[in-house]
Amino acid sequence: MKVLKFGGTSVGSPERMKKLLNIINADERQIVVLSAVSGTTNNLVEIGQAYLKGDKPKAAALIKALKGKYELFIKELFKEEKYLNRGKEVIDYHFGLLTMLSNDLFTPIEDKIILAQGELLSTTLYHVYLQEIGVPSVLLPALDFMKVDEDHEPLVDYITDHITPLLNKNPDNKLFITQGYICKNSFGEIDNLRRGGSDYTASLIGAAIRSEEVQIWTDIDGMHNNDPRIVKGTQPISQLSFDEAAELAYFGAKILHPQSVFPAQKYKIPVRLLNTMDPQAAGTLITNDSEKNKIKSIAAKDDITAIKVQSSRMLLAHGFLRRLFEVFERYKTSIDMITTSEVGVSLTIDDTTHLGEITKELNAFGSVELDVNQTIICVVGDFGAEKHGYAARVLESVKHIPIRMISYGGSDHNLSLLVKTEDKVEALRSLHSRLF
Ligand code: ADP
Ligand code: ASP
Ligand code: MG
Repeated sequence: MKVLKFGGTSVGSPERMKKLLNIINADERQIVVLSAVSGTTNNLVEIGQAYLKGDKPKAAALIKALKGKYELFIKELFKEEKYLNRGKEVIDYHFGLLTMLSNDLFTPIEDKIILAQGELLSTTLYHVYLQEIGVPSVLLPALDFMKVDEDHEPLVDYITDHITPLLNKNPDNKLFITQGYICKNSFGEIDNLRRGGSDYTASLIGAAIRSEEVQIWTDIDGMHNNDPRIVKGTQPISQLSFDEAAELAYFGAKILHPQSVFPAQKYKIPVRLLNTMDPQAAGTLITNDSEKNKIKSIAAKDDITAIKVQSSRMLLAHGFLRRLFEVFERYKTSIDMITTSEVGVSLTIDDTTHLGEITKELNAFGSVELDVNQTIICVVGDFGAEKHGYAARVLESVKHIPIRMISYGGSDHNLSLLVKTEDKVEALRSLHSRLF
């Protein structure tokens, strides 16, 4: 059974929604994961922020504007009065809830309920649309099977145990629709898999049901060899390994949620990145295999802080790095890049929530320096230890840009550079024109 995920632009208008059936094979048993209509989650974020600030009039105005968009949406989506009325009921229910939340004490719990409404709306409206055109489908409530633990880690076995009976209950049904992004947390509250999380949902369901393939349908023909929003003339990559794709997603290739590759990788489920606007395009196939002897792609991750700890006590000492890392562990802060010399360590973090406490503790080790507004440029390719010339080519391409850190050899397929964010665009363009 395949899992097909359609992103925000792929369900972004009634016309696009109707065209999904050109891609979905309604005769094949499959699970279709939908995102919210594009723009909706951003709007819901704004509504939540207005409530959190106590600005109820602003929240009300935002809700009204968003509801207006959906009223137009359903007018185009449905033909018959009966289904248009059903669509109206759906909208009234979800927008009624958004309005009602103003009566309660507003906390991050209510905020997450707000964020969940986008995917609930898109899937329910699509389900009603399929009823209107006579295509049988079953709506699977993601909140009944998608779950994360207290560390926000998804529970694949739980998902298997809870989605399987829902599928088995409908042995003759071909098409199952469900919400991306949303889940329950360990307190049983509504939560989400973070922005862009519908990709993660698809991969998790794929893993949970041991799917034959996960397809991520979006607005571009697969993973490109550089960020198409910044660099002109980028090209799609036909094949990537799970590790390479994970690296690119983690280091900024927005086409994939940073964690979405791991569940598919664990259960060896092929992932295809495909283009809804050009369904015939080959896209990108992600499997265990990798194309050899190539520099494949470049990605960039912003909002990085570099921390340098210098201490002569590190010289010939053992246990220094362990104690240093323990500081980050205590504050649940993950480290992305690390470089060391005999008297100093530089490392990078993206989550600065506990930077103050971390810096304070690090001061006990030696002098601490911080560099903010940094960007990691990640070059992915086949860089095994026996290879030569790749690092030289990369560095030659950015010789006019100041480099704060270089990381090579951590894996066989990654070379990362840390630059100032103001130099990112030039670094990406220069690498692109010289490497490809
Ligand atoms: P969806 O709403 O379908 O999930 P996203 O906007 O999350 O779509 O992801 C697709 C977008 O990712 C593309 O439109 C593109 O601008 C952006 N993107 C960034 N880096 C890359 C890359 N390396 N390859 C392809 N797309 C990328
Ligand atoms: N709708 C969510 C977002 O915009 C999830 C997704 O689209 O993947 O982040
Ligand atoms: Mg996305």
